[in-house]
Amino acid sequence: MSLDDLYRRVIMDHYQRPRNRGRIDGGAVTVDLNNPTCGDQISLQMQIENGVIQDAKFLGEGCSISLASASMMTEAIKGLTVENALELVQLFSNMMQGRDIDFDQFPLEDIEALTGVAKFPARIKCAMLAWRALEKGTQQCKC
Ligand code: ZN
Repeated sequence: MSLDDLYRRVIMDHYQRPRNRGRIDGGAVTVDLNNPTCGDQISLQMQIENGVIQDAKFLGEGCSISLASASMMTEAIKGLTVENALELVQLFSNMMQGRDIDFDQFPLEDIEALTGVAKFPARIKCAMLAWRALEKGTQQCKC
């Protein structure tokens, strides 16, 4: 199996069996964002306590890239401090710009599967949507 095939398989797995799909009861930060160029929508919820992301869930509609990215992102940020989560947004953004990055820095190795998206500028916004929601959510939160 080629690396591209492996990556495609990982992306489809997250698309078909999204992790952390749903809502959080009470007190969660909610961010709704959409990507008009593709029609992707996400509603991200995070439970942040003492500067640590305790839980993250999302609902969304859209292409496989946007939903797989949301699934991976929510899985990766649980248990991270807000500061570390924002560093991850920067790392992911660098990855989308095709820069050389250290994949070991990602707490979830599946994220590496999205590396090929950098070659398709039209899809970068799809992959970034959930991460932009994360960034916005941490700005909303007074914690
Ligand atoms: Zn999309």
